[in-house]
Amino acid sequence: MPIKEFDLINYFFRNQFPHRDDVILGIGDDAALCQLPEHHQLVVSVDTFNEGIHFPHNTIPEAIGYKALAVNLSDLAAMGATPTWFTLALTHSQMEEPWLSAFCKGLKHLAKMYHVALIGGDTTRGTLSITIQIMGHVAAGKALRRSGARNGDGIYVTGTLGDAGVGLALALETPIKNGQGEKFNLAQHLPTTLADYFKQRLAYPSPRVELGMKLGDIANSAIDISDGLVADLGHILEESNVGATIWVERLPLSLAMQSAIQYGYFSEQQAIQWALSAGDDYELCFTVPAEHELLYAPFLASQGVRKIGVINEGNCLECKYKQQPWFIEKTGFQHF
Ligand code: ADP
Ligand code: MG
Repeated sequence: MPIKEFDLINYFFRNQFPHRDDVILGIGDDAALCQLPEHHQLVVSVDTFNEGIHFPHNTIPEAIGYKALAVNLSDLAAMGATPTWFTLALTHSQMEEPWLSAFCKGLKHLAKMYHVALIGGDTTRGTLSITIQIMGHVAAGKALRRSGARNGDGIYVTGTLGDAGVGLALALETPIKNGQGEKFNLAQHLPTTLADYFKQRLAYPSPRVELGMKLGDIANSAIDISDGLVADLGHILEESNVGATIWVERLPLSLAMQSAIQYGYFSEQQAIQWALSAGDDYELCFTVPAEHELLYAPFLASQGVRKIGVINEGNCLECKYKQQPWFIEKTGFQHF
């Protein structure tokens, strides 16, 4: 049975999410009031999630709720910010209890994990669309911008790359080439344990919030990898007016990716292609000035980040495989 808007807000959203002392006035008034710590700047980002574009039509509501907040948290991580508050604009054709409960479960999982409060929103009827605006703070002047990279910096990435790309190829049943160069449908061949890992990585990315918060004093630029490494690192290069060399044999590949290569489900070239160009991994890519690299080497090693290249004075992105030129086929996702 459809629920009335007012009841719905009270039942699902008001007092259902983490409480924070810096929320002076939360859900229930015309607007929310929040307190920033002294000498800090407000960091704001918004992302919209549309059915059929950002997630397939049959996606379970829990995964939609999770990922809508995950991608926003990832943006704040890439700024080196501490996430604190978010708003939710929800449009759905049918506001029904099972859907809303599952959606909130996914959303709440991450909200609790990072202690972010839901402070307001809007609820309307229409084609399913979710817009989350996230807010947080950073010590004045300490935010990590795309424009801070300099000649000689090391280029680093968190986690592993390309996993979500495999997840998407599985979900869309995109034909790929196997280790022998024959075309086939990966979804029909890959063992379920491996396939499940890739699908999980696509549906439930881990925003690198804790690391992002620690990078402020270490890195000089950062971005989160939503559209693919080449495309997103490209933004850093453009904004910083520099070039880069990436050593593709150093791109971090998951154990699942390595096993799939080893068993011939796809080639190493194909895996590198995904790691370079596929979107949706939500790992961080950041640059570290040479003088910081040595100083922070133990810390960076302890965070499982990998150095994958260097910034140079040029104006393009060059990829090398064991010192030989490597040509990039596709450069990531663009909406327009
Ligand atoms: P208004 O007409 O002033 O915009 P609404 O009736 O839309 O107020 O919302 C009432 C309160 O509920 C507001 O505080 C608003 O921020 C909050 N709210 C509405 N929809 C949501 C939602 N989807 N998630 C969180 N808070 C919401
Ligand atoms: Mg409203």
